[in-house]
Parts: sequence; C-alpha cells; structure tokens
Amino acid sequence: MSISENIERFRDQLPTTVELIAVSKTHPSSAIEEAYKAGQRHFGENKVQEMAAKAEELPSDICWHLIGHLQTNKVKYIADSVHLIHSVDSLKLLKEINKRARQAERTIDCLLQVHIAKEDTKFGLDEDEVKEILESDALAGYANVRICGLMGMATFTEDESQVRAEFAGLKSTFEALKAGFPVSERWNPTILSMGMSGDYALAIEEGSTMVRVGSAIFGKRDYA
Ligand SMILES: *Cc1c(COP(=O)(O)O)cnc(C)c1O
Repeated sequence: MSISENIERFRDQLPTTVELIAVSKTHPSSAIEEAYKAGQRHFGENKVQEMAAKAEELPSDICWHLIGHLQTNKVKYIADSVHLIHSVDSLKLLKEINKRARQAERTIDCLLQVHIAKEDTKFGLDEDEVKEILESDALAGYANVRICGLMGMATFTEDESQVRAEFAGLKSTFEALKAGFPVSERWNPTILSMGMSGDYALAIEEGSTMVRVGSAIFGKRDYA
C-alpha cells in the first residue's frame, strides 16, 4: 500500500481520541510530502539534526515531534521548530529546554519518558523519578516548559500479555500522577504517548492517546 493509503487507513481506524504521529525518521522529505498531501500534519523524528533539516524545507504547519533521546547540547537546534518533545528524562534537560524556549520566546511542550520495558537498553524514568521532577522547586521556575504527559515504549516481544501489562502499568502511573499533582502552568497531563507499528492496537486498548507509527506507514527502514 502507498503512504497516502496507509495514512487514510489509520485515520479511519483510530479512535478520534488518539492522535497519529507519523514517524518519518530515515525517510526522505518526499515521503513526508506524500503523507502531508493525504492530510497528515504530525510527524515524528528521533534525530535532532534530521528533524531540523526537514522542518526547514517542509510546510510550516507541520507539527514536529522529537521522539528520540535528546542530548542537552542539541536542544538549541530544535527550539524553534519542535511541537512536542516526547523523550524528556531529566531535570537537567528540562532546564536547557526552558532556557532555549525562553530565547525563542515560546513555551515548549514536553512528555516525560517512563521506562516500562524489561530491556534495560531503553531510556526513561521510573515513577519515583517522575514524581521528583514534578515536585521540584526548579520545575516551578521553568516558565517556558509545560509537561503534558508521559511517553513509554514496551518491550520488543511477541508476548502480548507482557506488552499489555507494560502499557497498563504506564496508564496507571499516569492516573496516579494526575491524581497526585494538580494541574498547573507546568503540568497539564493530557497526553499518554504509547504504541508503535507492532503494538499500537494494544496500546490504544490500554489507554493511549497518541501513537507513534513508522514502518506501518512508510515501510521498512534501512537503519535506526
Ligand atoms: C522509531 C520509533 C517509533 C516507530 O517505530 P515503528 O515500529 O516503525 O512504528 C516509535 N517510537 C519511537 C520512540 C521510535 O524511535
């Protein structure tokens, strides 16, 4: 199936409460343009330079999502163009995002990445570390960032019950944090980003509001 057919299929299939992020990493701008013509506006990239370069040459109404690990020294490259950073995993990173957002005279929306997979190769915080960030006096002073929810990646396994349990765990963490931390200028938890090509259906059943789908839209990647 073509990229535009895939976009249409997802649009028909997903509940209206779930936002589709088309993960275009490693794919050329022409592929993004095809999805764009089919009406897709939210795209995900995992590398800062690649996202910045694509943002420069593609239509300005695209919402760019940074989904990959973000190093502090690279925040400056995306401060103007990013719509939502899914992969925040430290207060130090939030401090830098706040600084660059202030310089760009904007607020940058972020998700905290929570480690839910059994594999220890994946980045992310545990629930206590998320709480420490939300409680911290430092965060209260970061007037140019807003934490809009959580992101997580399940273990890459055929075992559906394990994947489901990991998503359910993230959903319950999300609910606990919503109950424990009142909405503020810095914390407006509306987004639960979970689910990729192989597991988005399970993620949606477990409460996802945002799925990040790459290969099921654009086809196989050669790397990354
Ligand atoms: C690459 C990537 C995706 C998309 O993966 P697919 O399996 O191609 O859908 C989603 N989330 C993150 C964080 C990624 O790096």
